[in-house]
Amino acid sequence: MNADKFYSVVVPLYNEEENAPLLISAIESVLKNYRYELILVDDFSTDKTVKVIKDIAAPNVVLIELKKNYGQSSALMAGIDYATGDYIITMDGDMQNDPTDIPMMVAKMDEDGADLVIGKRQKRQDNLLRTFPSKVANFIIRRTTKLNVKDHGCALKVFTNETAKNLDLYGESHRFITLHAHINGARISEVPVKHHARQFGVSKYGIGRTTKVINDLILLLFNQKYLQKPIYLFGNIGIVAFALGMLINTYLLIVKILGHSIGGRPLLILGILLVFVGIQLFTTGIIIDLLMKTYYESQKKRPFNIRKISTF
Ligand code: UDP
Ligand code: MG
Repeated sequence: MNADKFYSVVVPLYNEEENAPLLISAIESVLKNYRYELILVDDFSTDKTVKVIKDIAAPNVVLIELKKNYGQSSALMAGIDYATGDYIITMDGDMQNDPTDIPMMVAKMDEDGADLVIGKRQKRQDNLLRTFPSKVANFIIRRTTKLNVKDHGCALKVFTNETAKNLDLYGESHRFITLHAHINGARISEVPVKHHARQFGVSKYGIGRTTKVINDLILLLFNQKYLQKPIYLFGNIGIVAFALGMLINTYLLIVKILGHSIGGRPLLILGILLVFVGIQLFTTGIIIDLLMKTYYESQKKRPFNIRKISTF
């Protein structure tokens, strides 16, 4: 690690009163010889997380309290917005990630000239209900994109400042940060990291999260392919349907001219239908294109509200 650089560690916390003190001291012992800030984002905890942090926080700790429970992605965005480091490091606040991996990850970053280094949890210490959906998601992403990352769900990551600030997270999409960054053109490296079982507190996610993750993943993969020009998805189907319909109708027209009856043929209905479906889909494509443009331009709004930022 480079002593000239400034490091920002961003951690989202929701009901982590036992873990917060452990985290603060673990980060301090790893980064004490470097210039760093530890940005703790309290995602509207209902336990004593905020109080515990305020009682022990050192001068390089920043506490951002959100007004509601916005979820891990938004909490991360709040912290990243505030961060000023040359490198921005994210991790979970439940001590499942190991801060002692940070120096090795930063070294890997410099070595590879990467924009983002993600950890690959060597022995993931979570149950099957959590690990199985992740395996499926990792597999789908590997198959549908050129991004070869094995463990997208690992929260421990190191970003260049610019890469982190470029993220646009929502919903549960912190699970696919690497994919977001990849879409933005980031160079990504992966290194093995340690992973521990949760000692204190409980996991904040149940089975309901899996369906949300699936939705976000589909949207993201869809975006990656059609982000620039969504009209191609609808427009192409529309043009094919229209052409097919016209072909059928021309055939029927010739049959008619030759003096045969074309009434009562299912083909007639299909021909007419396809022409109209084609026109509909094509115009839908144009509308979605305009909509996407507006959607991305309107994203300047942040997905969270901050109650208070404390420094110590
Ligand atoms: N978290 C959060 N807001 C939430 C849920 C979770 O800030 O609504 C934090 C949580 O405190 C932890 C991290 O996100 O620091 C990961 O959560 P958890 O350990 O529950 O997830 P898991 O390891 O089970 O995937
Ligand atoms: Mg955890």
